[in-house]
Amino acid sequence: MKYVGAHVSASGGVFNAPKNAMNIGAKAFALFTKNQRQWVAKPYDEKIIDKFKEALQESGIQPRHVLPHDSYLINLGHPDPQKREKSLNAFIDEVQRCELLGLKKLNFHPGSHLKLISEEECLDLIIESLNHAIKESDEVCMVIENTAGQGSNLGYKFEHLAYIINGIEDKSRIGVCIDTCHAFTAGYDLRSKEAYDKTWREFDEIVGFKYLQGMHINDAKPDLGSRVDRHESIGKGKIGLNAFKYIMNDKRMDDIPLILETIDESIWPEEIKLLYSLIKK
Ligand SMILES: [Zn+2]
Ligand SMILES: [Zn+2]
Repeated sequence: MKYVGAHVSASGGVFNAPKNAMNIGAKAFALFTKNQRQWVAKPYDEKIIDKFKEALQESGIQPRHVLPHDSYLINLGHPDPQKREKSLNAFIDEVQRCELLGLKKLNFHPGSHLKLISEEECLDLIIESLNHAIKESDEVCMVIENTAGQGSNLGYKFEHLAYIINGIEDKSRIGVCIDTCHAFTAGYDLRSKEAYDKTWREFDEIVGFKYLQGMHINDAKPDLGSRVDRHESIGKGKIGLNAFKYIMNDKRMDDIPLILETIDESIWPEEIKLLYSLIKK
């Protein structure tokens, strides 16, 4: 079974997110557990936690189908030790917020070398940060997202994801999220059945499907391999509808959150319906 949703607003409080998901017909959702543009936020009080858990239960959405996204400020591979520590502390705070809310996964972008250190040095720093965050928490799975490779962002090759996983001591705490727009603009084609099969064969050989904990379902404005991160509504970009038809009929994407981050949120209800309509009966 497929669990499609979107990255919904949590404005006014995290407890609003499950309702926002329900209102668009989502069976999964993503959210920010705090204001993503600020480094620190007030700790949750008991009331907020209870309200969130109640709202989640009412929505009928399972905690494993919720994919919180960390703040864009965080860079776990920052070349500057002080700035890296600031990022790590903010990241650990987010992991703990997920645990308080009863959520099982936290989605994050690996990090950026800022052209100050090599890719490998940066990946090693990310591994060190993650091992630390895992020790400071009990059960949340750290879900690395592949990137478009814009600027000095790492994670645009499946090899980067595999390298990070390889360095994690407790592999039960690490997973990956594949964003279709990022994969495509990083050079992984999904448009024909052959290209789709080839991309996922590579993914399975290099990373492994057992680590796939979620997907971001986005069409792309830029071309294949452009390394530019610009999302587009489903079927309206350079990837096109076929790739999403393959995904919706691919058993390997069952039972994980499939999250829209497409640009026009007013059509999310239609996009969710469209994706479900692609499933062959
Ligand atoms: Zn994404
Ligand atoms: Zn993106």
